[in-house]
Amino acid sequence: MSEDDRIVPFPERRKKARAPRCPICGKPGIAAHEPFCSARCQQVDLGRWLNGSYRVETDEAPEEPPGSGGERSDG
Ligand SMILES: [Zn+2]
Repeated sequence: MSEDDRIVPFPERRKKARAPRCPICGKPGIAAHEPFCSARCQQVDLGRWLNGSYRVETDEAPEEPPGSGGERSDG
């Protein structure tokens, strides 16, 4: 017994040329500076990255563990 499946012809997905967007300005990137649109944006991104993307500097004092001055009697 076979259920008759409804085969709906759907439009094939058109393969578009991969056009990465420049993460800086949003313009379509170029092969020479993928995924950036220009060397300038590439530098901008690089600069951002070096500036403090991976180095988060904070002048906040490190949190102290909640264990000083607190007495607790369990059981
Ligand atoms: Zn750009």
